[in-house]
Amino acid sequence: MKRTLQRPVVPGVGASQPVVTPIMPSVVYASESPDALDAQYEGRVKGHTYAREGHPNADVLAARIDAMEGMDGGIVTGSGMAAVTAVLLGLCKAGDHVVGGNQLYGRSMRMMAEDLPRLGIATTLADPTDVAAVEAALRPETRMVLIEVVSNPTLRVADLDGIAALCRARGVLLVVDNTFTTPAAIRPVEHGADIVLHSVTKLLAGHSDVTLGWVAAVDPEITARMRVFAVTTGLTASPFDCWLAERGLATFGLRFARTQDTAQRLAAHLAGQPGVRRVLYPTRADHPDAARAQGLLQGQGCNMVSFEIEGGRAAANAFAKGASGIAFAPTLGDVGTTLSHPASSSHRALTPEGREALGMSEGFFRVSVGLEDPEALLACFDDGLRAAGLV
Ligand SMILES: *Cc1c(COP(=O)(O)O)cnc(C)c1O
Repeated sequence: MKRTLQRPVVPGVGASQPVVTPIMPSVVYASESPDALDAQYEGRVKGHTYAREGHPNADVLAARIDAMEGMDGGIVTGSGMAAVTAVLLGLCKAGDHVVGGNQLYGRSMRMMAEDLPRLGIATTLADPTDVAAVEAALRPETRMVLIEVVSNPTLRVADLDGIAALCRARGVLLVVDNTFTTPAAIRPVEHGADIVLHSVTKLLAGHSDVTLGWVAAVDPEITARMRVFAVTTGLTASPFDCWLAERGLATFGLRFARTQDTAQRLAAHLAGQPGVRRVLYPTRADHPDAARAQGLLQGQGCNMVSFEIEGGRAAANAFAKGASGIAFAPTLGDVGTTLSHPASSSHRALTPEGREALGMSEGFFRVSVGLEDPEALLACFDDGLRAAGLV
């Protein structure tokens, strides 16, 4: 991975430079003449016209994430779902077929189940840990396969290399949502992904104060088609949000290393508690995909830990209340630890049997580990377990 130091990009301030990128909120940009506008639209000179079409803060942020992912020309979008939309609706047409992982992010799942079929785009969900299942889902008209490397919330690890080989052989685009894993653990293009996307809202921006996304394709023509769609449909992002995310990215490497460390400690701590039925963390030896995680993530884990306690919904309520130092909120990637309960939030639309099949009982929690003092954090979990009568 090429490492470069990122200095702020500031147009036209003379001999000295600010050390922070300025926010440029202008919606419109004035040009000198019709000829100058021609030059700009024809790509002979760089410039902006209207903020929905692009602006300097989006350019700076896109270039930062491009460098992290080892890609070029990425598009910053107003949310992670806007990035998913730019891929699915910007590239597919009625009559196409899309295969999705069977444990995608909830709203991606909804697009697969409701919105694409409504527009005449057929969809099939398949288990991405099983390349044979993905192969069985392919049809002659399959346009793309959309997967996440580590699934939410059961932290299963996709057979990325197997699926990439399959997609290449069948001429199908492989789209990877790298939100959970981040380029610190894996760069999907190096494994054959054609398109990579992020909810920048989560770990990359990292402070739960901005909603953004990013998407890029290896083929610049595909990126250009997504960009036109994003600009036309208004999926693009605000300068201030881009600026906040740029600031968040400055500490991403530190945050990722620290939260991963604490997540490993938390997983080990929880696994030693009598009332905890199981703990899921991709690099633990007892994880169902441990060997694949080791190979794909190169020894890195993630900041997420999932676990299941005894005692069903009553114990879950007592635990969430008892662990009062931890925000009970269904997001991830914040500087503060958050706890979520899929059965009452992200996966509430499923039947209890459907959740059980995915391994999510009423006692199942997902933790997004933050930057708190690790000892204090473990003590909070002990408070929760005590309140639930489990220790
Ligand atoms: C949150 C999330 C999204 C959607 O991102 P938003 O920024 O909330 O729109 C997509 N994919 C994954 C894996 C996510 O966690």
